[in-house]
Amino acid sequence: MTTDFDLIVIGGGSGGLAHAQRAAEYGAKAAVVESGPLGGTCVNVGCVPKKIMWYSAHHAHQMRHAGDFGFAVSVNGHDWSALKKKRDAYIKRLNGIYEANLDKRGVTYLQGHGKFIDRNTIDVDGKHYTAERIVVATGGYPLVPDIPGAELGITSDGFFDLDERPQRVAVLGSGYISVELAGVFNGLGSDTTILVRKDGVLRNFDVLLRDELETAMERSGIELETGVVPTALEKTAGGIKVHAGDGRAFGEFDAVVWAIGRGPSTGSLNAAAAGIEMDAAGFIPTDDWQKTNVDNIFALGDVTGRDALTPVAIAAGRRLADRLYNGMTDRRLEYHTIPTVVFSHPPIGTVGLTEDEARKEYGDEVRVYETRFNPMIYAFSKEKVQTAMKLVVVGNEERIVGCHLIGDGVDEMLQGFSVAVRMGATKQDFDDTVAIHPTSSEELVTMR
Ligand code: FAD
Ligand code: NDP
Repeated sequence: MTTDFDLIVIGGGSGGLAHAQRAAEYGAKAAVVESGPLGGTCVNVGCVPKKIMWYSAHHAHQMRHAGDFGFAVSVNGHDWSALKKKRDAYIKRLNGIYEANLDKRGVTYLQGHGKFIDRNTIDVDGKHYTAERIVVATGGYPLVPDIPGAELGITSDGFFDLDERPQRVAVLGSGYISVELAGVFNGLGSDTTILVRKDGVLRNFDVLLRDELETAMERSGIELETGVVPTALEKTAGGIKVHAGDGRAFGEFDAVVWAIGRGPSTGSLNAAAAGIEMDAAGFIPTDDWQKTNVDNIFALGDVTGRDALTPVAIAAGRRLADRLYNGMTDRRLEYHTIPTVVFSHPPIGTVGLTEDEARKEYGDEVRVYETRFNPMIYAFSKEKVQTAMKLVVVGNEERIVGCHLIGDGVDEMLQGFSVAVRMGATKQDFDDTVAIHPTSSEELVTMR
């Protein structure tokens, strides 16, 4: 069968672009269909603008402590709106770079909404294109619950649209986005409340990280309310109120942010026309090789419902191209030992099994090393932000199966340690590694 392309990728985000570009480098005739700005969630409404806002709040923290080191600092306000303009311009520049990169590699950029006509044909705003293989990399969107007044709240997308900083903010949800956005609002001066429906934040993370983050957030002025199952938002004369299932009401707030997870962008793909199976929530399951139930159709990134992280989408996309277009027959992404950072204040870095997960898997073979300390950057400060670290090890050889960090600088610390954990390092390997002094990371190789 003669087709227009070897490969059509639906979705020009982290995973789709990585796959199409790598495939084109190997000689595939590739096209990318994208209905929004190139770069997808990460570049436009995710990692990149979020990290800029995190840096801004980080500077606020640094300035508060600068006096301890001899500076006479007076902060004369923060211009959110000016920062947003710079951030938007930066992202626009990145969009242009992404388009140029496609061009450089000879990837055809089809602007518009893609949907299946059949297993080899995609409709892009009325025009049909055929390909031997099709990759679905359409990512996801922020969920909003179906309750009265939900539309009074914004999502993370709306957060990036804010021209001014709201003074009184509630963030609903307990995951990454909730603690990251709450940290930004609080750091830049908003009165910030996190409302969670269960007993705390980041419930899938190691208990040490959850406890330490909740303590740090409380000390920094973030209020945390637990057991709040939101049942309605109400507009009042003074702002927005959040009503909970147990009769409590919270607020008024100037902004309420939904951060309760993300759903897959598959609703308008017409995937049934190609026979693609989805799960009940609309995610597209794949086998270990990113293949859907249809032989020539693959899926990667957030739309598959696995570890929704940019480097995961990129790694899956590149490995798939290595295998399909460069003869690397065993190449695939292994979805374990994936390191991740939560850009809270202070940040969290974590890789491998939590202590609970390890105990479930290995029982009494598990041993834990833990440390908590005040890093030297707070040597002169009244307000100290503690660092905490945990290594989870297994068996007589004490293989490290989990490494959990919270504190200043751990966001940059974890990457190297995650190489060691992935390679099967033991506690003895860490002990035998000479420390770098004076740092916080040296604590990881000196724990007893
Ligand atoms: P996406 O990047 O979402 O790309 C999908 C693309 O497909 C989009 O551009 C969309 O417009 C397009 N599309 C969808 N349907 C169609 C269609 N039918 N036709 C044409 N185009 C279509 N991850 C990290 O690793 N680190 C972080 O710090 C981080 N921070 C985040 C902060 C926030 C606020 C959010 C929301 C996410 C964050 N993430 C972070 C997660 C990360 O953004 C995603 O995991 C990543 O973008 C997924 O890449 P993807 O290629 O699967 O999908
Ligand atoms: P998460 O899945 O991380 O957390 C959302 C949480 O909100 C749920 O786990 C649940 O926690 C709670 N929740 C779910 N439904 C409701 C509801 N109806 N009412 C109240 N609370 C609810 O989702 P996020 O939106 O925070 O982020 C999506 C994904 O994006 C992340 O999982 C991550 O993969 C990625 N991301 C990565 C970042 C990074 O790498 N730094 C940053 C931001 C996002 P509970 O059960 O405890 O109530």
